[in-house]
Amino acid sequence: MNALLESSAIQSRVRELAQEIEGDYPAGEEIHLVGVLKGGFVFMADLIRSMTTRVSVDFIAVSSYGAGTKSSGEVRFQKDLDTSLEDRHVIIVEDIVDTGLTLKYLQDVLRQRAPRSLKTACLLSKPSRRKVEVPVEYIGFTIEDRFVVGYGLDFDEKYRNLPYIAVLNE
Ligand code: 5GP
Repeated sequence: MNALLESSAIQSRVRELAQEIEGDYPAGEEIHLVGVLKGGFVFMADLIRSMTTRVSVDFIAVSSYGAGTKSSGEVRFQKDLDTSLEDRHVIIVEDIVDTGLTLKYLQDVLRQRAPRSLKTACLLSKPSRRKVEVPVEYIGFTIEDRFVVGYGLDFDEKYRNLPYIAVLNE
C-alpha cells in the first residue's frame, strides 16, 4: 500500500503536538490522557513518550463503525474508564474525527464527570465529512474524504500495525 502519511512525518508531527500540549498547561500539573480504543492506542503510545510532564492514562472503548467503512452514526459504549476524571486536566486522545458524532458523544459524557479541563487531540481530521461541530484543540493532519488505515486504524481489524497511514483501496 502507498503511504498517504509516512512514518517519519507522523513521528515528527506527534512530537510537535506533544510540545504544544505541554506548553498549554501549567508546569507541574498532571495531564490525564484518555485514549479511545482501539484506533487511538498507537497515537497515544507515541504521544506520551514525547511528553516530559507528568501524565496518567486511561482508556475508553466505543464503536461506531462495525466492520464497514461508513459511519452508522450510532455510537456504542463498550468499555468505561477505570478512574474518576474529577478535577483533572483531561485530554481525549482519538485516532480520527470524521462525522464528529463519536467525539461529540464522548465529550458530552466525559464533561459530566467534572474534569478541571477537557480538551481533545486527534491525529487525523476529515473536515469535509463533519455532521456536528466538535471542538478539537490538537489536530495532527487534515486529510480528504478517504478511508485510511494504519498507525492504529483498521479495516475489519486489519492494518493497525502499519507504521504509516495509507488509503484503503477496496
Ligand atoms: P465519527 O464518529 O467522527 O464519524 O468517526 C470516528 C471513528 O470512526 C473513528 O474513531 C474511527 O474509529 C472511525 N473512522 C472514521 N474515519 C475512518 C477512516 O478513514 N479509517 C478508519 N480506519 N476508521 C475511521
